[in-house]
Amino acid sequence: MLNNNLYSETLYDTYGQHFTIDKLLFEAGTAHQHLVIFENKEFGRMMALDGVIQTTERDEFIYHEMLAHVPLFAHGNAKRVLIIGGGDGGMLREVLKHKTVEHVTMVEIDAAVVEMCKEWLPNHSAGAYQDPRLNLVIDDGIKFVNNADANADGSFDVIISDCTDPIGPGEVLFSSEFYAGCKRLLSENGIFVAQNGVCFMQLDEVETTARRLGHYMADTWFYGAAVPTYAGGIMTFAWGANNPESRNVALAVLTERFNTAGIASRYYTPAIHQAAFALPRYVEEAIT
Ligand code: SAM
Repeated sequence: MLNNNLYSETLYDTYGQHFTIDKLLFEAGTAHQHLVIFENKEFGRMMALDGVIQTTERDEFIYHEMLAHVPLFAHGNAKRVLIIGGGDGGMLREVLKHKTVEHVTMVEIDAAVVEMCKEWLPNHSAGAYQDPRLNLVIDDGIKFVNNADANADGSFDVIISDCTDPIGPGEVLFSSEFYAGCKRLLSENGIFVAQNGVCFMQLDEVETTARRLGHYMADTWFYGAAVPTYAGGIMTFAWGANNPESRNVALAVLTERFNTAGIASRYYTPAIHQAAFALPRYVEEAIT
């Protein structure tokens, strides 16, 4: 991981990327994972967990806009949102830009990630943690979804799993048990989305999610966006919806919703929303 002034990602044994550590800002083992935050001349401030790059100031907007705005504009009337993970605060920032969202519960296992990202990556949350609509829960996402009661506590219109890779604490967030819990918490036209790795390098994760998630959702698919520091090509986002029509919202409707929301995006557009669901043949074959 760290040697001299290089951060070498250890996600793969035989392939990888490295970044010069131009300034080390924070490094420690937390109660759950090894956390590093450092400055790199190319990507700005970067955060890594257990040897895997999680987010950078320069390209985070692509990932956070696509994992937040695609389900929210597809749904069209989401009031209650659940974020699992997301400790850097970028997902929370993008979700809260939707003024129609009335409540966000965010369940993050590692309080140190929240606190250190508030301090060293302030532009990610950009004040989102102070929003009165937020209910921040420090807990394991799978414990939360297993214990929450949709009738007593309310269901969610959009659930976003903004988790690490399926290693360490993140592994349970790719399990059938987790997807079953999310299904129980989704409202009638609810939509579940999740980061699901880089399909060219982690196609087995896509196949596994398609099989497991497909057991619970009326419509299971994937969409993509290229995020430069998620090395290896397009990042694949898992999509699970109670209403199959949610994936086929007309461009004119998406455009109207986007214009009404008045959100200044840098990556998301209604056209990219629609195009993102077009998958390479090898990915289509893997998930069908
Ligand atoms: N954008 C990144 C990606 O695509 O890999 C994810 C970023 S975010 C920092 C991932 C978050 O998931 C971390 O803050 C980590 O602590 C959290 N996390 C991992 N396992 C979790 C679990 N079981 N429950 C809740 N949060 C978890």
